[in-house]
Amino acid sequence: MSWQVIGSIAELRAALAGARRAGRTIGLAPTMGALHAGHARLIEQAVEETDYAVVSIFVNPIQFNDPRDYDQYPRTLAEDAELCGRLGVRIVFAPSGEEMYAQPQQSFVEVQGVTQFLCGPFRPGHFRGVATVVLKLFQIVQPDVAYFGEKDAQQLAVIRRMVRDLNVPVRIVGVETVREADGVALSSRNRLLNGEERRQAPALYQALERVRERIEAGASDAAALRQEAVAALEERRIRVEYLEIVDLESMHPVERIDGPVRVAAAIWLGAVRLIDNVFCAGPGGAPTPPVAEPEGR
Ligand code: AMP
Repeated sequence: MSWQVIGSIAELRAALAGARRAGRTIGLAPTMGALHAGHARLIEQAVEETDYAVVSIFVNPIQFNDPRDYDQYPRTLAEDAELCGRLGVRIVFAPSGEEMYAQPQQSFVEVQGVTQFLCGPFRPGHFRGVATVVLKLFQIVQPDVAYFGEKDAQQLAVIRRMVRDLNVPVRIVGVETVREADGVALSSRNRLLNGEERRQAPALYQALERVRERIEAGASDAAALRQEAVAALEERRIRVEYLEIVDLESMHPVERIDGPVRVAAAIWLGAVRLIDNVFCAGPGGAPTPPVAEPEGR
C-alpha cells in the first residue's frame, strides 16, 4: 500500500478529503517521533481498527518547559517514516514548527483538575501545550479515532477530559504500555541514559509493581505505601520527583484505597526524567477493567 510523508497542512487536508469522501474511517496516532515498539503498538492498533491511519510526528515546542530538553529530544524522521510505511500507515504528517505555529499562538487549551497533581505542578505549561497541540491536530486531521499510550496516563486523562468538555467528536483509545524485558517502559528518552543509569532504570517499575502487589494483598493506606516505595528508590540513590496513588479518572491522589487506582511516579536518573505507572485493581485484586472511554460527542 502506498504511503507518503506530508509537511503541509493544506496538502494533508487535500489528501484526507478523498479518503473521507470514500467513507473511510481515519485513525490518528500523535507522536513526537524517535519511534520505538511502544509507538508501534499504537500505530498497529490504528492500522488494524481504522481504514486510513495517520501518524503525526511533531516535537511540539510549546509543551517543553525546559528548552534543553526540547533541544536534545531525539529526531529520527527518516527511520520513523520507514517504520510507519512498513506498519501500513497511509500518511506521516511531519510539519515544521513554522507550519504548526505560523504566527505566535494566542489560543490555548487549559484542562484543569486532572492536571493538578502528578506531572502538572512539576512541568508548568506542559499539559496546556499538549492539549493545545492535540486539539490542533484533531482539527487538522479530523480523525474518527485517536490513539494514546497509557504510559502517559495523565496525558491520556487530560485528552479524554478535553474531548468531553469541548465536545470534540473523536473517540479516544488508550493503549497498554510496552516494556523492555526488564520492565522498563519504552520511551524515546531511554536512549539518553548512560550505562549506569540504564541499569538503575528497572527500579522504577519494580517500585510501582511492589505497591500494586501490596494493595492487591490488602494494604489500603496510601501514605504508608508511598513512603515505603519512595524510601526503596532513594536507598538506590534515585531522585524521586513524585510517587502517587491516584484515582483513574480525576488523577487526584487517594488517601484510602478501596477500588481501582493507578500508581504513578517520576524519577530522575542523571539529567533524564522518566515517568511510569501501573494499573492496580484495588484491594483483593478484583479484576475491575479500567474506566470505559466516553465518546467525545
Ligand atoms: P511521544 O512520542 O512520547 O509523545 O508518545 C506518543 C504516544 O506514544 C503517546 O500517546 C505515548 O503515550 C505513547 N507511548 C510512548 N511510549 C509508550 C510505551 N512504552 N507503550 C505504549 N505507548 C507509548
